[in-house]
Amino acid sequence: MTASDTTLIEDRIGSDLDALGREAIDLAAAERAVGDLLLALGQDTGDPNLRDTPRRVAAAYRELLTPKPFNLTTFPNEEGYDQLIIARSIRFTSLCAHHLLPFTGVASVGYLPRDRILGLSKLARVVESFAHGLQLQERMTSQIATWLEDRLSPKGVGVLLEAEHLCMSIRGVEQPGATTVTSALLGCVRNDPRTRQEFLKLAHTEGGSGA
Ligand SMILES: [Zn+2]
Repeated sequence: MTASDTTLIEDRIGSDLDALGREAIDLAAAERAVGDLLLALGQDTGDPNLRDTPRRVAAAYRELLTPKPFNLTTFPNEEGYDQLIIARSIRFTSLCAHHLLPFTGVASVGYLPRDRILGLSKLARVVESFAHGLQLQERMTSQIATWLEDRLSPKGVGVLLEAEHLCMSIRGVEQPGATTVTSALLGCVRNDPRTRQEFLKLAHTEGGSGA
């Protein structure tokens, strides 16, 4: 591999997630379990509106829990670009590992490159992939940062997530609109005060388009 070649790394993020201990999805078993859950919750499974619910719910969970594989395309940093590269206003939906309820939000992901840079759309794909699983926002934030650090060996990485958790807004403390902010800063984005400030200033989008 020469330095000037575009390198296509066959890097399936799904296998990273599977390394976290996930098993293959058994759709038929999931359907039966949803049927059992409806019964246990005292629902009339003979109701025509519920007839296809186990199948729909199982399919919906499969979709929400299955990351789309993608190829991580990296390029040599030929221009020697040494400023922050940040993708922000990346919308995501994930499932809270504690309640199986969705949390939705916006991510900003940035890095200070060293020898290699990443296709811009890939930052959003990384977020999307880690969102497809039973997640904790804190863990998802650090997984994205660590993944980028491992793959790009950049000078620094910053990840900022802001999300609303349905388990907080429709139950429990019932705080609709309250959001949780998590960040993972690595390398010079963590250690160099100027870079850290710059990342945090650029990453904060107030949930807007940020454009
Ligand atoms: Zn929850």
